[in-house]
Amino acid sequence: MRLSGWGRFPWCEARVRSFAQAGEAASFVGREQPFIVRGLGRSYGDSALAQDILLTRRFNHILDFCPSTGALSCEAGVSLDEIIAAFLPRGWFLPVVPGTRFVTVGGAIAGDVHGKNHHSAGCFSSCVRSLVLLLPNGEVRTCSPTDNRDLFTATCGGMGLTGVILAAELALRSVSSSMIEQKVVKARNLAHTLELFEEHGDAEYSVAWVDTLAQGEGSGRSLLILGEHAPGGPLRLAEPKAVTIPSWFPGWLLGRPVAKIFNNLKYSSISANGAQGVVPLHSFFFPLDGLLEWNRLYGRKGFTQYQFVIPKQGGPEGLAAILSRIAGSGLASYLAVLKLFGPANANMLSFPMAGYTLALDFKISSGLPALLHDLDRMVREQGGRLYLAKDARMEPAMLEAGYPGLAEFRDLRRHYGMDTVFSSLQSKRLGV
Ligand SMILES: Cc1cc2nc3c(=O)[nH]c(=O)nc-3n(C[C@H](O)[C@H](O)[C@H](O)COP(=O)(O)OP(=O)(O)OC[C@H]3O[C@@H](n4cnc5c(N)ncnc54)[C@H](O)[C@@H]3O)c2cc1C
Repeated sequence: MRLSGWGRFPWCEARVRSFAQAGEAASFVGREQPFIVRGLGRSYGDSALAQDILLTRRFNHILDFCPSTGALSCEAGVSLDEIIAAFLPRGWFLPVVPGTRFVTVGGAIAGDVHGKNHHSAGCFSSCVRSLVLLLPNGEVRTCSPTDNRDLFTATCGGMGLTGVILAAELALRSVSSSMIEQKVVKARNLAHTLELFEEHGDAEYSVAWVDTLAQGEGSGRSLLILGEHAPGGPLRLAEPKAVTIPSWFPGWLLGRPVAKIFNNLKYSSISANGAQGVVPLHSFFFPLDGLLEWNRLYGRKGFTQYQFVIPKQGGPEGLAAILSRIAGSGLASYLAVLKLFGPANANMLSFPMAGYTLALDFKISSGLPALLHDLDRMVREQGGRLYLAKDARMEPAMLEAGYPGLAEFRDLRRHYGMDTVFSSLQSKRLGV
């Protein structure tokens, strides 16, 4: 079967199996061929690609729920969409959600994903009370921040390279509404954007859409989107109507001239005084989920999402230099999302650190490798790193420089014999 990540780059011919019982997963682990586990394939690059792949989606039962504390136990193939659909109407929500709800619990843990509230809530692992991990020798261990801590801190953010996450206990949070009070603030340039992030530091959710094509005085202009859970009802799912992008969508449409028009329209759609209102939770957290198969927009060659984080200190100058390099490159990024992260956690390969993170979608093109090579150098010089869940092309030296927990992670893999059993195209490329 021919498979790719969400970016449709790269592709790989894979033998794919799936399991519905823990015993079937254990027998897969006992085979000689190394493999990687795959959830819903929403990682952009090659982290869930290998010649042999084990799918978790059929392993998707809710196991237990406590209506007084919000403690939820489920199998790892359950999606965040299924959790929200089942528990939001009862007044419970996930404390951390990424920009799509079509990811599995296993994928959210393995990527240690973050949301628009990293500054206040940390990564997905902060709501994982424990997880059940299938090891290379077929043993099943329950891991938490206190029990089998080494396995827990390696698995959260470990990109499937420590074992098969079979199940997890999550701490849901209570909410009294399925609506979000949203405020949009307009920023003139990068300095203004960063100033507004500080000014609104107590907002529960914050994220900025940045116009990466703006140059000169307007470089880094953005729309800062802030949100809080609305204090009172309704508690019902208002799913926006989804539109599907056809497979024949011409990728050449998304060139720089169209991006310029799109960015100008988007920026000027908000008045200088900003905008505010109450919006359904789904459109606040998952705006792209209303456009099914939107990854086809970039055409047959696919795209990559380049997401980096650089430390807060020195961040403004670093971001300004990076934005100027992008604007001068002749290439366009339609989706450029800036967030201010809170502190890093203890997990060995978790991506976030206190600083600025920018995620940029780029269509695969001949000029792209040179641009990303330069951005790598700039990110590295700033003491930053790239996000493994988005990566399809990082070089090993970049990983070594950005992830101080890598040596410990490699030692743990060797110690448990994980290095000969769990392997993805990404782990091979990076020599993890
Ligand atoms: C539109 C969109 C928006 C996104 N927004 C964000 C965002 O805001 N923040 C963010 O952090 N990420 C974001 N992502 C990335 C996404 O949240 C992660 O890539 C997530 O890991 C995908 O989960 P999945 O179930 O699709 O896993 P897959 O893509 O299938 O796998 C991802 C990794 O998890 C491992 N894995 C999956 N299941 C298991 C398991 N049961 N046991 C062990 N390992 C496992 C795989 O081996 C692989 O390394 C976004 C992705 C998309 C497409």
